[in-house]
Amino acid sequence: MINDDFLTLTIGKQKNIALIAHDSKKAELIDWCKANKETLAKHFLCGTGTTARMVTEATDLPVKGYNSGPLGGDQQIGAKIVEGRIDLVIFFSDPLTAQPHDPDVKALLRIAQVYDIPIANNRASADFILTSKYMNEEYEHTVINYTKSIQKRAKDLKA
Ligand code: PGA
Repeated sequence: MINDDFLTLTIGKQKNIALIAHDSKKAELIDWCKANKETLAKHFLCGTGTTARMVTEATDLPVKGYNSGPLGGDQQIGAKIVEGRIDLVIFFSDPLTAQPHDPDVKALLRIAQVYDIPIANNRASADFILTSKYMNEEYEHTVINYTKSIQKRAKDLKA
């Protein structure tokens, strides 16, 4: 990059993929994971607690489980995005049911947007992402230089 307001980060060839499904979408996500097992097996998988457990039981794919979504799992996945430890999110959310943890869901979507992380919220998007040529390559993307941004904010906000 020409200036240091932004950083170029590289998503590796082998991706860290987070899997999340709301209850009414769990069967669909499991079906999708079964259909794409061979591809998913090449990457590192994690997910919210119940989703992770159910995907592993149904497919034998290893999925590292965080807390259940309503108990903070979405926030844990958001935090991993901030730390640069998650490269891709497959999140089959339920658009027709109110969720007790709606603020956490919004926070996760927002933080994925901030860090330029691809996120699929339905099966078609997941299919498009998983068949992208970038799944087999490194991918360079641009994110805000947060160290620089903190320095600038601290300076600008000083009394
Ligand atoms: P769960 O959480 O996988 O533990 O059900 C998903 C969610 O509702 O966010």
